[in-house]
Amino acid sequence: MAKELLPVATALAIVREHARPLPPRRVGLLDALGLPLAEDVAADADSPPFDKALMDGYAVRAADGPGERGVIEDVPAGTVPTRTVGPGEATRIMTGAMLPAGADAVVPFEKTEGDGPRVRLLNPPRPGDNLLPRGREMRAGEVLFHAGRRLRPQDLGLLATVGHAEPLVVPRPVVHVVSTGDEVVPWDATPGPGQIRNSNGPMLVAQVRRAGGVGHFVGLAPDDPAGLERDVRRGLEADVLVLSGGVSAGKRDLVPEVLERLGVRAMFHKVALKPGKPLLFGDLARDGTPTLVFGLPGNPVSSFVCFELFVRPALAALAGRDEGPRVRLLPLAEGVNHRSDRPTYHPAVLDGPAVRLVPWFGSADLRGLGAADALAVLPAGDHRLEAGSPVEVLPLEEDASA
Ligand code: AMP
Ligand code: MG
Repeated sequence: MAKELLPVATALAIVREHARPLPPRRVGLLDALGLPLAEDVAADADSPPFDKALMDGYAVRAADGPGERGVIEDVPAGTVPTRTVGPGEATRIMTGAMLPAGADAVVPFEKTEGDGPRVRLLNPPRPGDNLLPRGREMRAGEVLFHAGRRLRPQDLGLLATVGHAEPLVVPRPVVHVVSTGDEVVPWDATPGPGQIRNSNGPMLVAQVRRAGGVGHFVGLAPDDPAGLERDVRRGLEADVLVLSGGVSAGKRDLVPEVLERLGVRAMFHKVALKPGKPLLFGDLARDGTPTLVFGLPGNPVSSFVCFELFVRPALAALAGRDEGPRVRLLPLAEGVNHRSDRPTYHPAVLDGPAVRLVPWFGSADLRGLGAADALAVLPAGDHRLEAGSPVEVLPLEEDASA
């Protein structure tokens, strides 16, 4: 039985193979934070577009040396000088304003005396003092960003500077979350006998958002074919559909057959891991890009672990991000006895340079998971792992939402 299960690495390779970057589209600058550019962007003009004063003061000819000048004009920022500065002359100028013709230096007010029609420079000015020559920051046509750049706040400022108001980017994947189960009630309801609240809905939407996706909760589907089909249909109108529950081998586990009926092609069903064995992955051909479908097992920790292991990397790939290796090898802080026919992803905490397992009562125990900030992978078998034994660790707190 265990032999037929797909190893995690193989399952992950299949997911990655089907998770291709979404087609790029243009978005406004206010919506572009964290998204990778899908084009090179060049400067539209020289910057600064003119020789620019960097201080409030007087624009002068350095060759005239220190001493008196006659003030011929006032140039606040945003206005254009009308007069050429001749020998013995100066223009009063404000920070950011255009240097008048003839001038080649700015002397700040603090280095002068008098503020009427005449002014005295205390020191000899040097050419280029307190001004930024045209094109010093960038030249028109110069490439500022290459495709692939993940946009940060200061990048958005620079895109605004060069008038690139709608950059071409790889968008965030839109993910629909559907919970299933006749015994599951909304998270704001009081469960009757035999019922439980829907913990997976909000948890999975939050996992989607933390992984950089746009998460929507679509609904709570019943364990009957018609009701489930209705919600799955709605769920499929997204880049990714994440279902929880109804994917095991029970009579009321209808997710695999409903997906099949709606044309979803299952790539695998059942993986060698604990918790999370019944995981199903498939896709539905749509015009353009397919919808990826994950049927996660209903137990909350199983759902959570399968998301982190398989859905998160898929979302990163759709979003055009290369996550790189997430698993680290760390020594166990304490020895453990472990017995399982499958590799176990055990809630754990990063403890200095080591990893420590937290008490955990299995796939329904969200309380135990809540104490964890990592998953430690305990290999299949019946054995003791001594303190210091290296184990693979998946940290959980990375945030790709921006
Ligand atoms: P299933 O995968 O549907 O067989 O569900 C496995 C276990 O997870 C059952 O005990 C369910 O009651 C529970 N479960 C399923 N869906 C949820 C959910 N959305 N929130 C909390 N528990 C769930
Ligand atoms: Mg169920």
